[in-house]
Amino acid sequence: MSQSVFDTLVGQDAAVAQLRAAASGTGMTHAWLFTGPPGSGRSNAARAFAAALQCPEGGCGHCESCHQVLAGTHVDVALVVPEGVHLLIADARRVMERASRAPVRGRWQVTLIEDADRMEDRTSNTILKVVEEPPPHSVLLLCAPSLDDVLPTIRSRCRLVPLVTPSPSAVAALLERDGVDPAMAAFAARAAQGHIGRARRLATDEATRTERREVLALPGALGNVGGALAAAKNLVDAAKAEADALAALRDEPEREELATALGAGATGKGLTGGTPRGGAGALKELEKRQKSRGTRTQRDALDRALVDLAAFYRDVLALQLGSAVVPVHVDMTAQAEALARGTSPEATLRRIEAVLACGTAIEGNVNPQLAVEAMALALR
Ligand SMILES: [Zn+2]
Repeated sequence: MSQSVFDTLVGQDAAVAQLRAAASGTGMTHAWLFTGPPGSGRSNAARAFAAALQCPEGGCGHCESCHQVLAGTHVDVALVVPEGVHLLIADARRVMERASRAPVRGRWQVTLIEDADRMEDRTSNTILKVVEEPPPHSVLLLCAPSLDDVLPTIRSRCRLVPLVTPSPSAVAALLERDGVDPAMAAFAARAAQGHIGRARRLATDEATRTERREVLALPGALGNVGGALAAAKNLVDAAKAEADALAALRDEPEREELATALGAGATGKGLTGGTPRGGAGALKELEKRQKSRGTRTQRDALDRALVDLAAFYRDVLALQLGSAVVPVHVDMTAQAEALARGTSPEATLRRIEAVLACGTAIEGNVNPQLAVEAMALALR
């Protein structure tokens, strides 16, 4: 049983001390910016803080209020999670509207925006109004990878909560506390490079472990141009399959829900036939969201693969330089050693750069297939 909502924030002692103090009234303010690398737990930290703000005991972790905040059902805590490539302006307007209401049950009207780095400038400007003139009971919690991901006009008005990448041993301890076998916990924590959610999935989901092995098979499949292109195609196909699977699960139910809301009957067919007034616009909006979510899912999957690949080549480089660091991919040591013997550190550095460049290209809207093919050819 959790003793405090902050218990799951492993290795974040400075941030936890700051948030505890604020929840008990010391250093409280209306706008907060949680920064930290993916998986460091910035949205968890923001959620825990929201719970602590609403809990009569400062975040006990077991009262009804704490449970509701952590489950995302508290009436005075709005969670805004951009699913697509960008946070839509319509969502930002809803945030504005909500923030100005008085709290119903809690002490604060809390709005938590995950991935605030996905706000376009005009969305940011809408949010800025809340930050500049906060309604008396409103608290805005923003999460982003780094300070540079948020407009200076916004971040200068926020209290900053920098999170650090938790150590593998801290992540392993967290997994063990949740019942994961110690050897598996240690392997998953290291392979996930401090990404808590990824570590948990690696430790508990065989399919995730299989996907990781397939990604790490890529460096060994680059013998000739044909092999490199085939490996690139496999990587992109796997990411696309993940996006398609999510779409198959969610797109149609969302269409039906919208159709029902528009009074076109429960089948959704009314939307494609005689569209009710305003229905076409709403359907277009939904399709735009779904398409953006698909793009995001595919990019996230590729990004995970690139993080694993970059770490593999970093392991190779560490071997070549005689560094004593523990490898990220302990189960790939034989492959890393073979590559370390057969190539130069300069070549390894060029490979790491190729992997990073691929990530930058995809984030910059380059066709994923082209970006990954270019990378695979550069890795040969
Ligand atoms: Zn509580």
